[in-house]
Amino acid sequence: MILININAEKIKDIEKKHYEYTKELICDKINRKLKEIEDNCSDEFGKSFVEFLKELLDTPDSLLKKIILMDKENLLNFPISIENDCSFDFINKYLDLQCKIKKCEDEINKYENEIPYFRKNDMNTGRLNKIENLCELIQKFALDNNSYFEKSGKYKNKGEFKKDLNDLKIRITDKDNKKIALVKKYLLEIFDYDSFVKETDKWSAYFLASYLDINVCPYCNRSYVNTIISKTGKARPELDHFYPKSIYPFFALTLYNLIPSCHICNFKKGQKDTVKERILYPYSEQFGKGVKFTARLYNEKDLNVKNKLPEKDLHDIKFFFGNSNNFKIEIDETNEKIKNCKETFLLEDFYQFHKKDVRKIIKKAIVYTSSRIDELYNNYCPDLFESREEIVQMIFSNYDDEENLNTEILSKLTKDICDDLDINTK
Ligand SMILES: [Zn+2]
Repeated sequence: MILININAEKIKDIEKKHYEYTKELICDKINRKLKEIEDNCSDEFGKSFVEFLKELLDTPDSLLKKIILMDKENLLNFPISIENDCSFDFINKYLDLQCKIKKCEDEINKYENEIPYFRKNDMNTGRLNKIENLCELIQKFALDNNSYFEKSGKYKNKGEFKKDLNDLKIRITDKDNKKIALVKKYLLEIFDYDSFVKETDKWSAYFLASYLDINVCPYCNRSYVNTIISKTGKARPELDHFYPKSIYPFFALTLYNLIPSCHICNFKKGQKDTVKERILYPYSEQFGKGVKFTARLYNEKDLNVKNKLPEKDLHDIKFFFGNSNNFKIEIDETNEKIKNCKETFLLEDFYQFHKKDVRKIIKKAIVYTSSRIDELYNNYCPDLFESREEIVQMIFSNYDDEENLNTEILSKLTKDICDDLDINTK
């Protein structure tokens, strides 16, 4: 995970262009939606919701602007960051509703998990306390949620009991589910990411990617994702929604929710709910000094993996000369977010492919000793190289400065391995 650095001079321009475009797009979508609803004249809730969105657009310093240009800090700390801001009430209500549905489903699932432990006889007679108690609990839960549950401990079989539970779940969540589905549908139609992607002449995903000028995937640091807009064709990185639009549709066009990334990372992340399962947010977080890539020989623990390694591969001395693949690339795991990043993007698995790159660094470290680099420096500076740093960078492709890690693929791996081998640029 590498920090996204945006050119400071360009940032205001990007924000202005992005907001102007999205405002126009959203206004247009709202007006069309209102007309469509009026023509059908049956959807009262939909009408009031879209009218409410329209009003929000018209206020100075509108909510729309606050959503589209939500700053990185607020996005990083979402949803806590907006909890006490009444202008975000509709989002908070939406999230509360989502939460309520989830809680109810979890609660019912808890009861469902008890089903396999009932014996046939228990179901028939209901005489065992277990079923009676469970039914009482469910009845109480149903009443608390303004529903009902009429059965009291007598069931012919487990299937019948399960069906009742499922009916109860639908009765309790159905109204809220329909409401949330409708709001989500309207928000996705209005915060219309598809139009933004398809746009050809105006500001679009292509222009945004080009202005952001991100050349390496910030999630994996393994793929180039530079943008091309030329006479011969166009290409751009995918834009991952950090908070997925399928769950948080109001962020579908939010500038700093769009992360230029490679296809594999975008695909691997998919619909993962990053509010519930936090990962590092590349506009403000990265694998900094606290997270290190290391290359180490296999140890006894590695023998327990499925493909058991032959004994001789444990202490393969050829590793120290860059002549062996009998080693493992690891990423330190110091907190939950880093662990989630590793798992979401399969980072450790993918990085095993780069053993060849680590081996090259090891060999270069043997050949290019400090005195040899000094020799090159004395022979070629300042005619060919401006500094010793430039020579080290040429040999190892290593960037000492964390600010520059986003310019090259594998820069963090390279830096950490070079640090371990005590290769310094100074
Ligand atoms: Zn990637």
